[in-house]
Amino acid sequence: MDQSQINAQRAQPIAPRHHLIDGKHIPASDGATMEVLSPIDGQGLTTIARGTVRDMEAAIASARAAFEDRRWAGQPPAARKAVLRRWAELIDANALELAVLGVRDNGTEISMALKAEPGSAAGTIRYYAEALDKVYGEIAPTPGDILGLIHKEPVGVVGAIIPWNFPLMIGAWKLGPALAMGNSVVLKPAETASLSLLRMADLALEAGLPPGVLNVVTGEGAVVGEAMGLSMDVDVLVFTGSGGTGRRLLEYAGRSNLKRVYLELGGKSPNIVFADAPDLDEAAKVAAAGIFRNAGQVCVAGSRLLVEDAIHDDFVAAVVKAAEAMRVGDPLDVTTQIGAVNSEAQLHQNLGFVETALSEGGEVVTGGTRILDETGGYYMAPTIVTGVTPEATLAQKEVFGPVLSVTPFPTEDDAIRIANSTVHGLAGAVWTSNLSRAHRMVRAVRAGVIHVNTYGGADGTVPLGGVGQSGNGSDKSLHALDKYVDLKTAWIKL
Ligand code: NAD
Repeated sequence: MDQSQINAQRAQPIAPRHHLIDGKHIPASDGATMEVLSPIDGQGLTTIARGTVRDMEAAIASARAAFEDRRWAGQPPAARKAVLRRWAELIDANALELAVLGVRDNGTEISMALKAEPGSAAGTIRYYAEALDKVYGEIAPTPGDILGLIHKEPVGVVGAIIPWNFPLMIGAWKLGPALAMGNSVVLKPAETASLSLLRMADLALEAGLPPGVLNVVTGEGAVVGEAMGLSMDVDVLVFTGSGGTGRRLLEYAGRSNLKRVYLELGGKSPNIVFADAPDLDEAAKVAAAGIFRNAGQVCVAGSRLLVEDAIHDDFVAAVVKAAEAMRVGDPLDVTTQIGAVNSEAQLHQNLGFVETALSEGGEVVTGGTRILDETGGYYMAPTIVTGVTPEATLAQKEVFGPVLSVTPFPTEDDAIRIANSTVHGLAGAVWTSNLSRAHRMVRAVRAGVIHVNTYGGADGTVPLGGVGQSGNGSDKSLHALDKYVDLKTAWIKL
């Protein structure tokens, strides 16, 4: 990665952005805009359209028209595959521009953003492009005088609501399978991370996706997101974000057309370290990276460290050392390991969690404060709090920031009990060289993904989805396709 190319990109002015509706760039119906502040220095970057309910309705109408006239769903699979493959190529060709644009908007360190954003998004689009002509219907085992066919049909109009931490990666997790199956999509990016998604959508048009098949409406969740949730014409709603918004989306579905709602929500994922871990130094470094990269703004972050009593003090010391060695700073510097917190509001929320943890008996052993104030940006020192009881706020509630809680455990049964003592169930890890224990833990810990002797990095071949209040349904892998099709039976008397 070349720092001078990154610097050249960051020096580019960013033109004000409009919605993408029906293949055209359109301002908000009342002309309103929102200022985009960069978390790097708190300065204004550009403006985006502050969408209205009318804008969202126009985008949904465009998606509906595109679906009904079959301009995309009606194309042969090979043609849809070619468009999606071209789109992936364009994302790769414009990766640096997309990554830098995204980092200026959301603050993720560029070393991570390049891989996790355009790199991952292109890979995801390519994966579903390749998958789309390998999805077959079924013939049912009926009596001989009957032919029972099971068709997989596109659902129609998909609404996708995306958070700010990895807009391209998470956006592609929805767009790839939704478009591959022939649906039309209306995408609603997060207020504080719209720019790179808008640019990626432009590249889809350039690749040959027909107008109206992918629309992007920016603005406030409470306005345009709500309008999408309440629409009578959105068939499936896919969401990644907080539990609070997820609840609202379920209510909107109940109050409108009973649209299917898939939720990828937050986590409080336990990273469980036994004394017999194969390499405790490695485990400590991975534990630090597993919570502090992208300033902890990772849904699967290992935010609860559970450590066996016998190694607690030494292991915590090693994690503190690893955390303090991580370089926090300008996210567009290639050597930075921890970038900016996405917004000032999020930074204050993170600091509030630290105060609460202290008041509940926790001890901050490193970090706990805002740093680099002189930049005007939003930075927080990687923070480790020990002595956190399983019931404490910091052990129960997702921070979505660079704050690690540490809780000791005496036995394997205690580790399982503590691990399962939150309402979440997104991810987790177990570190042990005991094969039987590893498998027991994989079975016992309630989560969508359990890592063994590593943390994070699961690729697109495996599903990611939460259980409990971490959500339902999965992104990634062939399983994700199920969300974007309806099964239709043909029962034919021969
Ligand atoms: P958020 O719920 O505040 O916002 C997410 C999106 O929902 C944004 O686009 C926002 O504009 C929109 N929104 C807000 N209010 C809405 C409403 N009333 N109606 C419709 N849409 C509305 O979440 P966030 O702060 O952007 O993201 C952080 C959360 O996302 C964390 O909880 C994190 O764990 C979770 N997350 C989960 C995963 C996963 O795969 N499970 C991945 C990344 C992030």
